[in-house]
Amino acid sequence: KRRIGVMTSGGDAPGMNGAVRAVVRMSIAQNCEVYAIYEGYEGLVQGGDMIKEMGWDDVRGFLSEGGTLIGTARCKSFMERPGRLIAAKNMIVKGIDALIICGGDGSLTGADKFRKEWPGLLEELIQKQELTEEQVEPFKHLNIVGLVGSIDNDLSMTDATIGCYSSLGRICESVDYIDATAFSHQRAFVIEVMGRHCGWLALMAGVSCGADFVFLPENPPPLDWEDDMCKIIKKHRELGKRKTIVIVAEGAHDRYLKKISPAHVRDLLTNKLHLDTRITTLGHVQRGGTACAYDRMLSTLQGAEAVKAVLEATPETPSPVICMIENKIVRRPLLEAVKQTHEVAEAIAAKDFDRAMSLRDAE
Ligand code: ADP
Repeated sequence: KRRIGVMTSGGDAPGMNGAVRAVVRMSIAQNCEVYAIYEGYEGLVQGGDMIKEMGWDDVRGFLSEGGTLIGTARCKSFMERPGRLIAAKNMIVKGIDALIICGGDGSLTGADKFRKEWPGLLEELIQKQELTEEQVEPFKHLNIVGLVGSIDNDLSMTDATIGCYSSLGRICESVDYIDATAFSHQRAFVIEVMGRHCGWLALMAGVSCGADFVFLPENPPPLDWEDDMCKIIKKHRELGKRKTIVIVAEGAHDRYLKKISPAHVRDLLTNKLHLDTRITTLGHVQRGGTACAYDRMLSTLQGAEAVKAVLEATPETPSPVICMIENKIVRRPLLEAVKQTHEVAEAIAAKDFDRAMSLRDAE
């Protein structure tokens, strides 16, 4: 019987529970044993009670719960080889030879590194007499399958990450609340949303809420953005608009990579356009709450596909990440998806915004 481990890692996202539920139930349906690894890689390094076998009933009700019920953490020790050596031992002791990880690009990078090191880790465990050759023999290959859980929709090669539509929905709802009061008092609101390297949430919130101006990391505004923004907002006001909404991504900056802060935008609107301007930082409201229908569906279909990917894996297949492309659930090489994701961040850091945007378009 195969034994599959499932964990959530890195930043939490609505829909992660749906993924865990699907992995647990699909594994059982495929006659495998399935283990939840609590608190992400921390649970893998600590072992013992942090790795628990899951039954069909243990995930009852998971679909409609927000966050991640099996916990997530940032784990320093897994970043270093000695931590991963302990993790490998804990897996073998529990008899687990496949891991399904729902997390962001950091978690998936760590997972692929773990798989590459796996044969070396096993050798070291034998050398150090932590395990015998007979104990290690059935665990020669480690299967890793990634599921992308991230509210930012920041992984390349997939149209949507688990959590992004829940978060976008939450932002739209919040902007609707703000709209009503902004309209009443004819105020302007500068709304900060999450997204350090990826402006998807900000851009889609702008489109969905009819914002006046949006600031994104990948596509900074023109050099004269201050005048440009004020001109546009003034025009909107002259057309009779009683409220102003400006959306600023957390990672927004100008073409010199200088941060564009909500306070700076507010000061411009106050001083140049004499608008009564307030700042709202949506913060963790964007992560919390239950998953929307789309994320429940996505996490369920992808979780089931992840189990299939484990069962069909050969030693030669590179670790896959489960994606959604043009409304189809597909597998892609995990490392390539992570590499492309990093290329966007590198293009932004190099101020090559045309490249950053063309990479985003290509996605
Ligand atoms: P996310 O998965 O949301 O991008 P992080 O980047 O914080 O979040 O990664 C989550 C965890 O994954 C880290 O705390 C660490 O344990 C592990 N991890 C991240 N990057 C690596 C890496 N390069 N090598 C090994 N482990 C990593």
